[in-house]
Amino acid sequence: VQVADDDARDQRTTWAYRDASLPVEDRLDDLIGRMTLPEKVGQMLQLDARGDLGDIVSTKLAGSILHTSPERMVEAIALAERTRLGIPLLTADDCIHGHSFWPGATIFPTQLAMAATWDPELVERAARATADEVSATGIHWTFSPVLCITRDLRWGRVGETFGEDPHLIGELGAAMVRGYQGDGLTDPTAVLACAKHFAGYSETQGGRDASEADLSRRKLTSWFLPPFERAVQEGCRTFMLGYQAIDGVPVTANAWLLDEVLKGEWGFTGTLVTDWDNVGRMVWEQKVCADDVEAATVAVRAGNDLVMTTPAFFHAAQEAVARGLLDEAHVDAAVRRVLRIKLELGLFENPRPPDAARQGLVIGSADHAALNLDVARRSLVLLTNDGTLPYAADDAGATARTVAVLGPNADDPQANLGDWAGASGQVDWMPDGHPRDTVETVLDGFRAVVPPGWTVTHARGAEIETLVPDPDGPLFPDGQPRPPVSAAAPVDPDQLAEAVATARDADLAVVVLGDTMALTGEGCSTATLELQGGQVALLDAVVATGTPVVVVLLHAKPCVVPPSALRAAAVIEAVSPGMRGGRALAELVLGHVEPAGRLAVSIPRHVGQQPTYYNQVRGQHGHRYADLTQEPQFVFGEGLGYTTVEWSEPGIEQDELAPTDTLVAEVTLTNTGSRPAHEVVQAYVTDVVTSVTWAAKELKAFRRVTVPAGESVRVRLDVPAAACSIVDAAGRRVVEPGEFRLLVGRSSRDTDLHGVTFTITPGGVV
Ligand code: BGC
Repeated sequence: VQVADDDARDQRTTWAYRDASLPVEDRLDDLIGRMTLPEKVGQMLQLDARGDLGDIVSTKLAGSILHTSPERMVEAIALAERTRLGIPLLTADDCIHGHSFWPGATIFPTQLAMAATWDPELVERAARATADEVSATGIHWTFSPVLCITRDLRWGRVGETFGEDPHLIGELGAAMVRGYQGDGLTDPTAVLACAKHFAGYSETQGGRDASEADLSRRKLTSWFLPPFERAVQEGCRTFMLGYQAIDGVPVTANAWLLDEVLKGEWGFTGTLVTDWDNVGRMVWEQKVCADDVEAATVAVRAGNDLVMTTPAFFHAAQEAVARGLLDEAHVDAAVRRVLRIKLELGLFENPRPPDAARQGLVIGSADHAALNLDVARRSLVLLTNDGTLPYAADDAGATARTVAVLGPNADDPQANLGDWAGASGQVDWMPDGHPRDTVETVLDGFRAVVPPGWTVTHARGAEIETLVPDPDGPLFPDGQPRPPVSAAAPVDPDQLAEAVATARDADLAVVVLGDTMALTGEGCSTATLELQGGQVALLDAVVATGTPVVVVLLHAKPCVVPPSALRAAAVIEAVSPGMRGGRALAELVLGHVEPAGRLAVSIPRHVGQQPTYYNQVRGQHGHRYADLTQEPQFVFGEGLGYTTVEWSEPGIEQDELAPTDTLVAEVTLTNTGSRPAHEVVQAYVTDVVTSVTWAAKELKAFRRVTVPAGESVRVRLDVPAAACSIVDAAGRRVVEPGEFRLLVGRSSRDTDLHGVTFTITPGGVV
């Protein structure tokens, strides 16, 4: 245990690394020159603050901690101050759609829901608000944004992504980075952003979490890496590595990806963190290292800086140096990158401890709540509507009506918040989740917004699951608890009958169905995409009553939409819409706001269609299975409004471009209905002939616009010729001269798109 007494602490104030007026690199030279090997290796550790803080901070000298409860933060910071060199802690957590584990903090819709807004400016504001709250609580770093590309909807972590398109992910990820990092790291309200999970983690096998990612370098370069490169360009200061191995090499050991691509080609100068025990897992799960000493050697040599939750790394790395397996210079280089971030944040001058006064002003503030409601409204996607919605908007509520709000997710606060929030399972200090009165469920929302004199009734109608012990035992091999697993609940005839009666007595039934925390998230991929338990039986029975039914799919990620939902009056896709989601939903149904969301992932008809992402590589033999079309039920970019909009043919300013030119396209949208339209103008590009097979079309630009009733709006989109690239057989990103089609429209569906041809004249490698 290393504790500095008062004299030692006085003395170190005179050392050069403490002098904020000196250049950062000089301070780093001084500090690293004073550090012992244990102090250096300690700086590379990021440990779980739910453990013994004395052991973590004073004995293992950890440079960083995560999952620190509000009560323990002050203690941890003070312990670091008392170590010999007084190097401040870098504190981190997964504040990925709000300050997840701070009771009453603003919890926004999840990333997949935010993606449906197609609104980088809004996403940036949500990230800024999050940073404002997080930075007031002693946390310096959020493990966000997730830049993984959704490929298979069975994967449990789809809800954490911005969907299936690299361009949309890149734009929204960049917006989040700007929001978190604010005006720069010296801004006391800035938090470090973290692009994760670098890279290819989402290319699962069968949707299984953390499986080997079957990816060629070319495929990585083509679709998985671009959003990460965009994050580097935006100044994202940290990256987290995924769990997966690619072509046999765990990402933690992938020197090509870390050194050549990230730090070399892209010039990333920030800090890398492994994922949870990635270094240990090379020994006990992937079995590519014989012991912790070998794993530590491999990880440091590959260029990792912070090693998350592998306490054994402390002794193993020292042992690797002692045995001559690892050059101390490698450790020094990593430590320098960790300490540089601390200096950039100014932590030596101000360790940014919790600030109670600022917490009172910003956490869950009225401004943040208003922003949250706006994000929630724009995240909802209207998938079908037979004209029932907006409900009763014509008589503005003059006739009293009864709305039955039914279903297992109608009044479930956690289903609104989704994963990584409160009681979602990652931390132990919020067993009951966020305070109940901070969350508006769909039932709360209807009660709050129906006109005076209306009646809102409720019946649960069905259960989704019962939780049963994991048959593999109570603990994982590393000693972490195994959560209980989901077993589908049977139909309960009494519960069903009550809901059917409630629907019969109502003028409108809103049936809220979806998933649970046990059916989504890390380690919780699903084999099917069906609604579980008694839900389909409930919907079938309610639709059969003849009462108009609005189906709300409120879940972490899309499911297969059951046939009775497709016969209902309307279907709304509501991916974990956050604390204000229920109110936003009620407002949408009653027409107080316009539908604005557009799908960021396609929704299949059947699980066996996976993957259904729109930008697949052209193949042969058509678009049908023998027993089903390959077309998804709903496509990327799709979503309805409450009005009718006519789109003109797109026009372009010039039809021949040099590779350095930008294509300027224009389209006119005319709102021929009586309500405002929120449209997303989407521009896709098809490269007509490519030297290697390539995606049939790819999103290259988009603009969100509002078109007032009866008016026309001309929308301009810029598509740089340099963005019309492919990755050739040699793995180089190039623009291949020749003919292209620009496709503009309201979704990625071919019948929604209008095309115009242009050519790009000869150029070279971009
Ligand atoms: C997840 C990361 C997360 C980390 C820390 C890991 O298991 O994969 O996304 O940031 O835990 O909580």
